[in-house]
Amino acid sequence: MSRYSVFSILKNGLRGNQGWDEAWGTPKPKKHYDVIIIGGGGHGLATAYYLAKIHGITNVAVLEKGWLGGGNAGRNTTIVRSNYFVEGNTAFYEKSLQLWEGLSQELNYNVMFSQRGHLNLVFTPGQKDAMARRYNTMRLNGIDGEYLNRDQVRKFVPHLNYSDDARLEILGGYLQKRAGTARHDAVNWGYARAASKLGVDIIQNCEVTGFIKQAGRICGVETTMGEIKADKIGMAVAGNTSVIAEKAGLGDLPIESHKLQAFVSEPLKPFLDTVVVYGAGHGHFYISQSDKGGMVFGGNIDAYNSYAQKGNLPIYTDVASCAMNVMPSLGRIKLLRQWAGIMDMSMDGSPFICKTELPGLYLNAGWCYGGFKATPASGWCFAHTIAHDEPHEINRLLTTDRFRFGRHIDESGNGPTPNRH
Ligand SMILES: Cc1cc2nc3c(=O)[nH]c(=O)nc-3n(C[C@H](O)[C@H](O)[C@H](O)COP(=O)(O)OP(=O)(O)OC[C@H]3O[C@@H](n4cnc5c(N)ncnc54)[C@H](O)[C@@H]3O)c2cc1C
Repeated sequence: MSRYSVFSILKNGLRGNQGWDEAWGTPKPKKHYDVIIIGGGGHGLATAYYLAKIHGITNVAVLEKGWLGGGNAGRNTTIVRSNYFVEGNTAFYEKSLQLWEGLSQELNYNVMFSQRGHLNLVFTPGQKDAMARRYNTMRLNGIDGEYLNRDQVRKFVPHLNYSDDARLEILGGYLQKRAGTARHDAVNWGYARAASKLGVDIIQNCEVTGFIKQAGRICGVETTMGEIKADKIGMAVAGNTSVIAEKAGLGDLPIESHKLQAFVSEPLKPFLDTVVVYGAGHGHFYISQSDKGGMVFGGNIDAYNSYAQKGNLPIYTDVASCAMNVMPSLGRIKLLRQWAGIMDMSMDGSPFICKTELPGLYLNAGWCYGGFKATPASGWCFAHTIAHDEPHEINRLLTTDRFRFGRHIDESGNGPTPNRH
């Protein structure tokens, strides 16, 4: 597989673009692998890449029931940040942001990571104090973050609602400058290409339908392409976690599946060059502008459990009313597209990267609203956990038994209320 570079673009451009290699292979499954990863989303692909790259385990297959990026990895609003507060999350998400900062070079694939900043607006003194604690904690942990007063916010993002009759007055905002957005498809394709180059088999249209057990150990999977054996199996199936866990006999996990919608408008001229987040009262709204000009935004999950990848009207109207509240200048733009993904909402809002009670089976799940930004560190830590049979220091606390021992990592302090995490 050749390297992507200015020279390869020039060379192939001059030769009618006939010389490009396939970005990743389409192998038939082998009978046995050292490691199988179930789920060809960002997390599964990143795990396979780091298994091969860092741990030298290349006899690896990623089994994907549909196509790469058909799940949440290709459906999200692409916000990347590390403004986390609680031990267990802080170092993990900062590790992820650091990996993002070198990812295009690492993968030799432009993931279009754009550090355009992430601005959390504040509307009440209480909200301002809570955010101050979070951003001070970040700074103590060496993570960037700063407060902008109302005038500074106005200078930074002129198109917000600063009028006297605004329903909520913008007092200021907390900015993480190193945060931003990336191109979701490119992240999947980049990891897939780099993993495939290192010898990983990426097998699409291969659904895992059951597990093979021997002497209490998981030692293979049943799939729509037949049985495949493996020494170790990692599941990274996001919204389908409970379905796969049930097939494996893992019992109930502290996860609920909900859907989250995203919205994209018609393309506009450059209008917003940062990510803006509004979270006053029960409203929730985040927005950025894609490189193609579309305004990309979203809000809360749909409140009921579902495995449907399509959303419902109440959230649509809720998000639109938040948009009008904070950015009324959007009022006359047309929405072009809307869709939903299935979120694996954990009961404290934090993820799991850990071994399971079933020897041979490893769990990567509980990503809630925020798994896209976690993709690099999730793969990095999951690969370490699978390769060494124990967690890395960074994901040491991200276990399911934290609920058994009351060591919740409750980032937003909302208890087991999925829609508020
Ligand atoms: C609308 C929306 C907006 C979001 N916005 C953001 C954001 O701005 N920032 C952020 O950080 N996060 C965001 N997220 C969350 C983020 O997208 C997810 O947390 C993350 O993508 C989950 O990890 P993944 O990429 O591996 O999941 P997925 O891409 O869902 O991968 C799981 C894969 O497993 C496959 N699978 C399932 N069952 C099986 C089976 N039986 N056999 C084989 N394969 C199977 C699925 O087909 C799927 O491809 C958003 C999500 C949505 C839906």
